[in-house]
Amino acid sequence: MFVIPERCKECLFCIEFCPRQVLVKSPHINSKGYHYPMVAPGKENDCVHCQFCSLVCPEMAIYTEEVGA
Ligand code: SF4
Ligand code: SF4
Repeated sequence: MFVIPERCKECLFCIEFCPRQVLVKSPHINSKGYHYPMVAPGKENDCVHCQFCSLVCPEMAIYTEEVGA
């Protein structure tokens, strides 16, 4: 799961729609003042690459890639 922080508008769709609750709001903000998503601590291996997060993101700020694929 990769985030392009500068594109994020903090709509939180990705966090809401992730079926595995992998994502949380980062304590950090981008240059526009938005909290972008990050992987929740301890959930590093929980992403199932369903791609919901990238499909619901209106800003195309998040995408997934299978590690080792
Ligand atoms: S690909 Fe699916 S499981 Fe992984 S972070 Fe996105 S919505 Fe969650
Ligand atoms: S769906 Fe996209 S714009 Fe919305 S919070 Fe997630 S990364 Fe940011």
